[in-house]
Amino acid sequence: MAKALAPKPKMPKTKYWQFEIDVEKIGWLTINVPKSSVNVLSSQAITELMDLVARFEDLIASDELIGIVLSSGKESGFIAGADVSEFDSMADYSSLPEALKKVHNLFMRIEKLKAPFVSAIHGFCLGGGLELALATHYRIAVNDNRTRIGFPEVKLGIFPGWGGTGRSIRQAGPVSAMSIMLSGKYLRAGAARGMNLVDKLVEKRDQLRWEARKAVLQKRKSKPAGFMKSFMANSPFRSLLVKKMRQQVGKKVNKNHYPAPYSLIDLFEEHGDDWRAMIRGEIDRFVPLLMSETSTNLRRVFFLSEGLKKQALSGKDKPKFMRVHVIGAGVMGGDIAAWCAFRGMAVTLQDLDMARIEPALKRAKKLFQKRLKKPHLVAAAINRLEADVEGKGIKRADVVIEAVVENLKIKQEIFKNAEKQMKPEAIMATNTSSIELEKIASILKNKNRLIGLHFFNPVAQLPLVEVIKSKYNNDYDVKLGASFALAIGKSPVIVKSSTGFLVNRVLMPYMLGAVNRVEEGQSKELIDAAAIAFGMPMGPIELMDMVGLDVGKSVAEEVGFPVKEGSKFANLVKANKLGRKTGEGFYKWEKGKAVKGEVPEHSDLVALGRELVKPLVDETEKCVKEKIVANADLADIGVIFGTGFAPFLGGPINARKNGKV
Ligand code: NAD
Repeated sequence: MAKALAPKPKMPKTKYWQFEIDVEKIGWLTINVPKSSVNVLSSQAITELMDLVARFEDLIASDELIGIVLSSGKESGFIAGADVSEFDSMADYSSLPEALKKVHNLFMRIEKLKAPFVSAIHGFCLGGGLELALATHYRIAVNDNRTRIGFPEVKLGIFPGWGGTGRSIRQAGPVSAMSIMLSGKYLRAGAARGMNLVDKLVEKRDQLRWEARKAVLQKRKSKPAGFMKSFMANSPFRSLLVKKMRQQVGKKVNKNHYPAPYSLIDLFEEHGDDWRAMIRGEIDRFVPLLMSETSTNLRRVFFLSEGLKKQALSGKDKPKFMRVHVIGAGVMGGDIAAWCAFRGMAVTLQDLDMARIEPALKRAKKLFQKRLKKPHLVAAAINRLEADVEGKGIKRADVVIEAVVENLKIKQEIFKNAEKQMKPEAIMATNTSSIELEKIASILKNKNRLIGLHFFNPVAQLPLVEVIKSKYNNDYDVKLGASFALAIGKSPVIVKSSTGFLVNRVLMPYMLGAVNRVEEGQSKELIDAAAIAFGMPMGPIELMDMVGLDVGKSVAEEVGFPVKEGSKFANLVKANKLGRKTGEGFYKWEKGKAVKGEVPEHSDLVALGRELVKPLVDETEKCVKEKIVANADLADIGVIFGTGFAPFLGGPINARKNGKV
């Protein structure tokens, strides 16, 4: 009689992963985090993966499994990183080193599996997701516009802590690996392949499975970086590289504000020639970074910014924006139109005549070339942006944005005419920075139709759009506006229609306070250096020159701080010394840069910086009290995105709460 077979141990029950073995004995592992549009690696997901890997070891030993392919069940991509929210819910950090060690061990076990383990990547493969992929033996990625590969950790005040430091250096060599970890930049699939972080590209997502199967059957294994890429990790080259990296990082961020990149360079200096030692060294440096105020605040900024996405309409209300019509092809209208076309919408751009539209089309082409690079993508974007002197696009548009000169009568005329032609469900928006929405809307049949979409200059670089709510608007109207801002990749903050809205209102007392100091004889170089020492991205005087003194003067007047006749500021405007655009303002400008003199000695630059930003923080508090924005969190994120206010302090209100200003 045949002997009964011993019952096979069952696969562990998992919520985050699905696993099945096909007839060829290839195991297909899919990550699919429940109730989430993206995959993140939580501690529970990691624990389940540990159980699964233990099973893989047995199955491989008993020859029942010849390889594993990891892919994602989500449309959005592979894995967006570790579950950052878990860090914030930790009561204390004493268990963190142990938790990190567990993941290190798990990834080592994955690496040591005796059968090929292949990652099949589409969409986002970031942070902890990339660290996991780097621990597998071979990586295939979809070469389309949506794939993004990188380490965004520095943006959260940390660096990769699951072995990503050592493994990325092993694969890509120190120059490329350190550069992506230090910058937090995302790579497209082609660039990741060029760096050897990815081994094979496929053109479409549905080719991943076939290619991964081949990789398993052929036992493919990624090769580490060759000599030409890796020799810089050895001495004496490493110390030269370290010196250069410190210099470059030093130009971008202050060590007191953002310690993570500096700590990563120190780690590389210690262990850069031994990727395993680098991984072992991660934990001691990672934990204090994670516990730092900087990281806590940067994580707050991250969650506030993610929270903005929840303002979009969803479900059956989810709008589709295909066509945009922009009226006014000047500085703002031209760039808004270009941005929308860049983001994939069909755009018509209207102005009084063709000659006024042409410069905008030229600027748009430059933007497309810079951002899209591939000629066929640039050509497609150019085709999406159409000059439209007669305003034929109004009728078909899902969104009409007016950005003509700041003149009530002209704006009213434009909307009166547009209202007759527009689709009833289309968004009607003005980019005005100072005229009350209620005044513009007064001539409309449906006054509730008009909202504000207040973009910032330069449109392509600044993420914020203030969605302005007039007294006629209901929540749906502004949510529709927020949905549009999100659809073009901007961050919307809903702001009540009132003088200066949020950003200009809080910026002006700060910038004018600084200008007054210059009027009183203080050094502009000292003022700018102090603001930077505090944590602002640029000093207020240089910022005024960038914005343009004429624009600054008119915004100052709007928000109730008229510039005094005979003052230095007024005289500069009179003399057409308007800042960067005319080559001179408070500073002289050469090749787009302010020519600065020596910064005079000062005993405490940070304290002076704190004094300078105090009016900005006071005004933000007033905005919260007056309900200009719904709450302090929105004020913080709006001011960070709109003014660059020190992100490591978590926004003006948060900074004051923590006694920083
Ligand atoms: P701009 O002077 O550069 O451009 C205005 C354009 O509107 C010009 O090309 C002009 O020919 C056109 N125009 C005037 N009347 C028109 C009409 N009847 N039909 C079609 N086009 C017409 O001005 P800008 O700086 O781009 O500002 C436009 C709007 O954006 C203003 O409301 C301003 O308050 C607002 N805004 C400006 C900035 C900024 O930094 N410049 C920032 C945010 C918002």
